[in-house]
Amino acid sequence: MIRAMLAIAVLTAWAPPSAAAPTALAKPNIVVISLDTVRADHLGIYGYRRRTSPNITRLALRSSVFDRAYSATPWTLGSFAALWTSQLPSVAGIFDWGNHLKPPAVTLAEILRSAGYETHAVVSCDGLQRNGIEQGFDVFDDSLNDRLDAYAALTSRDVTDAGIRALNRERRRPIFLWLHYFDPHEKYLDHPEFAFGSAEIDLYDEEIASTDFHIGLLIDFMLEKGLFRNTIIVLHADHGEEFGEHGGSRHAMTLYEEVVRVPLIIYVPERAPDRVKGLVSLVDVAPTLLSLAGVEIPSSFRGRTMSGARRTFRSAEKRYGLSGKLRERPLSPRLGRRAVQADLRLRGQGRCPIRHRIRPW
Ligand SMILES: [Zn+2]
Repeated sequence: MIRAMLAIAVLTAWAPPSAAAPTALAKPNIVVISLDTVRADHLGIYGYRRRTSPNITRLALRSSVFDRAYSATPWTLGSFAALWTSQLPSVAGIFDWGNHLKPPAVTLAEILRSAGYETHAVVSCDGLQRNGIEQGFDVFDDSLNDRLDAYAALTSRDVTDAGIRALNRERRRPIFLWLHYFDPHEKYLDHPEFAFGSAEIDLYDEEIASTDFHIGLLIDFMLEKGLFRNTIIVLHADHGEEFGEHGGSRHAMTLYEEVVRVPLIIYVPERAPDRVKGLVSLVDVAPTLLSLAGVEIPSSFRGRTMSGARRTFRSAEKRYGLSGKLRERPLSPRLGRRAVQADLRLRGQGRCPIRHRIRPW
C-alpha cells in the first residue's frame, strides 16, 4: 500500500495544477536564469569536485534537478530559439548567426504576455539581439551589449542588479523575467578570490564560481522578499564547453556529452525537491512552464510537458533508444564544423538520434 502511494507520488511529481486555471493575478511569477556555456558536470549539484557553485546548490536543494537534460543544439542562438519556441532550431529557422526566427514562430514570452504577464528580459551577449528572441518581451534590456564587450568584461553583477530592479518594482501583474549570464563564455577571466589555477579550465571554473556568487545575491533577494512563495524558477545552460576531452575545444563544433548535456533545475513553490532521472530536452521547458502556470500550450510547441516526467521519459527512452548512444557518439571530424547547424532530436530508435540540417553554402 505504501509502495503504491509512493508510486503515485512519483508519477504525479511533475503533474500540472489540475484545478481551474488561476486568474492572471493568482498566477506564479516565472524567473528563468540562463547560464551561457556551463556544462552540467562542472556544478556541485551534479557532482563536481570543485566548489564552483554553492549558491546554485542552495537553489537546487529546494528544486527538481534534472540529471539528463540536453540542449537542442550546441550553440547559443539556436539553443535559445529552441528554448523559447519549443521547436528544433531548423524548424524555427535558426541555422546560423544572423538568422531570424521564421514567422510565425511563437515564443513563450508572447504566450505569457497574452496571458497577463509582464515580460522582461536582460541579456548580456550581442548574439541575442534582433533575431526574434526578443519577441514578446515588454522590456528587452540589451543595454549591457552597448556598454561592454561581453567577451572581455564581467557582466554577472549587472545582470543580477537589473534582475533585482525588475523584481522590486510594484506591479499588478505576475512577471516573466529572463536573466542571461554570459561570464563563463570565453574569454576566461581570472578571479583571484577563487584561485583554482591558471589553466583554461581553471579559469573557466572561476568564471562559473563568480557567476554563481552573483546568482547567490539574486537568490538572497528573492528569499528576503518572499518571492519563493509564488515564483517558479528555472536555471539552465544553453550548452556546455569542451576542454580537449575528445580533442576539441570551446563549443558549437561537436555533439559530445560535455557540450550538449546541460544543467536544468526547476523550483516550483511547495513542491518537494527531487532528482529526475528521465531524459528531457530544453525544448520541453516552455510547455512545462505554461502547464505549471495554467496557460494553454500553443500547437506550434513541439516539446512535451514534463508532467509525470519519470514515467513519461522512462518509456520515451525505451521507445527512442537513446540511452548511452549520445555519450559515445562523436561527429566525424568532417562534419564537426557543421554541427553548428545540428538539431538534437530525442528520437530515432535504432538510428542516429541526431538529425543534421545542413544549410547549403
Ligand atoms: Zn551560449
